[in-house]
Amino acid sequence: MRILIIHNLASGPSSDEIFAFARALSIGGDEICMRFIGDGMEPEDAVADVRTFDRVVISGGDGTVSNVLDSLRDTHVPALIFPSGTANLFFNNIGNAPEAAALAKACREGRTAQVDMGELFWTDEAGEVRRHGFIIIAGSGFDAAIMQKAAPSKNEIGEIAYVLAALGTPEPDVARFTIEHDGVVDELDGISCMVANTALIQNDINLFPECRMDDGLIDIAVIEPAATVQLLPTLLAGVFDPAGRGLGRPQFKMFQAKEAKITCTPSLGMQFDGELIENNSGCFGARVLPKYLDVIIDDFSPLGR
Ligand SMILES: [Mg+2]
Repeated sequence: MRILIIHNLASGPSSDEIFAFARALSIGGDEICMRFIGDGMEPEDAVADVRTFDRVVISGGDGTVSNVLDSLRDTHVPALIFPSGTANLFFNNIGNAPEAAALAKACREGRTAQVDMGELFWTDEAGEVRRHGFIIIAGSGFDAAIMQKAAPSKNEIGEIAYVLAALGTPEPDVARFTIEHDGVVDELDGISCMVANTALIQNDINLFPECRMDDGLIDIAVIEPAATVQLLPTLLAGVFDPAGRGLGRPQFKMFQAKEAKITCTPSLGMQFDGELIENNSGCFGARVLPKYLDVIIDDFSPLGR
């Protein structure tokens, strides 16, 4: 079997686990090729000949995984996500067992699920239209601030960090959102508009209870204007009812669509998968790329059910 491993050496504290994985994976007759993203090795270089491999393993945090999967789209080589980063939300959404040996077994067996990606469009300062795939959440407003503020302590104190980060913004900016979703236009005031491909965040909190990455739809949520303290019930509902089936998400207005165009006045900034976009136009598009990725799953993954 020919296996390509793409790894980010700077991905985080578990960065060396990938070598234990490679050891667990190896059997006679294999060819394992490791490529390390960095100077002179961009994600698109690393995947240039990916179709000649039987498997591709992507090892890093959410930023690395997002960039590599965006380069990989539509190649349909079975892809295993290996959680080497400080934030591994996409891996958590897939739901595979995290041990190196278990992931090596799943990689060899090669059972896959077809999942969607999101695609984001925006106009940069020079007026050029830019695009990037996203695997988790993109959007404008409150969420970017939260993800940024939660970053230094994420994975250590989990939802507490999230709540504290939220409290750090006592009076979030309010904007007018115009949301065109599959031809229907809604206008509403909010402090954030998020577009999600998957919505499980830290500590198994599902931000948007209906959100799945294999339904051919993106989930759009506008958070109603509220001081952060007033959002506490929603945040606490997230903590005590992670799946969102009982308490729901009282301050979120939600839509599902294949594509959407969102205008935010004034602009509240933008991010995708935790990476900030320098952009002040306040207008962006998003669409679903259905069944764009073949991700390797094991028996624990809800994607297999
Ligand atoms: Mg979906």
